[in-house]
Amino acid sequence: MISSFELTDAHEEHRETVRQFCEDEVEPHIEEYEESGTFPMDVVETVADAGFHGVQYGTEYDGLGLDYRSYAITIEELSRSWKLLAGTASVAGSLVGYPIHEFGEEWQREEWLTEICSGEWIPALSLTEPNAGSDAGSLETTATRDGDEYVLEGEKVWTTNGSIADFLVVGVQTDEGVSLIGVPEPAERDGLEFVRDIPCMEGETAVETEIRYDGVRVPAENVIGEPGRGLRYVLEGLDIGRIGTAAQGVGVAQGAFEESTAFADEREQFGQPIREFQGVSFKLADMAIEIEASRLLTLAAAAKRDRDERVTAEAAMAKTKATDVAMDVTTEAVQVHGSRGYSKDYSLERRMRVAKGMQIYEGTNEINRVVVANQLYE
Ligand SMILES: Cc1cc2nc3c(=O)[nH]c(=O)nc-3n(C[C@H](O)[C@H](O)[C@H](O)COP(=O)(O)OP(=O)(O)OC[C@H]3O[C@@H](n4cnc5c(N)ncnc54)[C@H](O)[C@@H]3O)c2cc1C
Repeated sequence: MISSFELTDAHEEHRETVRQFCEDEVEPHIEEYEESGTFPMDVVETVADAGFHGVQYGTEYDGLGLDYRSYAITIEELSRSWKLLAGTASVAGSLVGYPIHEFGEEWQREEWLTEICSGEWIPALSLTEPNAGSDAGSLETTATRDGDEYVLEGEKVWTTNGSIADFLVVGVQTDEGVSLIGVPEPAERDGLEFVRDIPCMEGETAVETEIRYDGVRVPAENVIGEPGRGLRYVLEGLDIGRIGTAAQGVGVAQGAFEESTAFADEREQFGQPIREFQGVSFKLADMAIEIEASRLLTLAAAAKRDRDERVTAEAAMAKTKATDVAMDVTTEAVQVHGSRGYSKDYSLERRMRVAKGMQIYEGTNEINRVVVANQLYE
């Protein structure tokens, strides 16, 4: 498996555009929201208005009409500033947007994807259940056909942005097997209850919802693609989602690295900047090496997808590497900062907390290693 890829001037310019956007529109707001523990809806809307929820989708659906490398760069740069925004953009562009774009009806693309790319709708994927996590094929939530409707019954957990979503894609068991159903305006639906937002390590700004579906009626035409093919659609969407999660890992690590190099230059102990101690400088060197390796894997996977090829193994490799690196780099960044790294006055402890989540979502890193292992003998 030898990968190659190229970045054009347009990709570098796009990176500069997103980075500048983050400095102007995102970074001034992070502290306020993290302190108050509220979801930053107005910042998310600004991100979506800039087109970053639909980077690789066509302008006819209000996307930016760029490629998967641009998508990865966008997510990395958002994550370098604030992972929360990168996660929301990644779900829109991959787990929800991709199945609609690739397998949905044209009316679904026009009505649903356009609302998602334009940022009118915050979307969410409602797949994981109390008894179906890594084993996503064993879903217990059912959708029973009743005339021209489906009736949904079941319980979901960890639906990111669930209770604030304008649109859910729900994984269900139908007579044909696992299917995906689009549920617009979930808060308005009889029988749909947002049970609670799960308190989690990412903090109060993150919205991770438990949802109960108790006789929720949805038009039968809201099935995405063919009934019974939902698991395949999810897995293909995950290929893109894992490129996005890898990019989140690169961005979080890059931000922690930059803060660490600046700090190690300024902070003096024993009469010299701490970067002059080999014990510190080798940590910084290892961070640089590992981040660059992660970025290359991520962009190589995105570039292969730009050539219209399946990237199941490449995306799993990039996701596993980049999120493990994010965990290692943020942990070492806290260490380089000493007691300051442990305080909430700096971003490092937040970066370390979100890195842990990345090793779990979009398939745990154990499951991603299973995916890679399964490809070794093909
Ligand atoms: C922050 C966050 C956001 C999330 N967002 C969403 C979302 O938007 N939508 C959604 O539907 N879900 C979401 N999830 C859920 C996520 O996809 C699941 O947590 C994940 O798939 C693992 O499932 P589980 O938690 O039930 O763990 P389990 O599947 O119970 O796994 C427990 C442990 O066993 C290991 N394990 C399981 N099977 C194997 C195996 N075959 N080989 C080796 N090890 C194995 C796992 O790696 C893990 O360490 C999110 C989770 C988190 C933490």
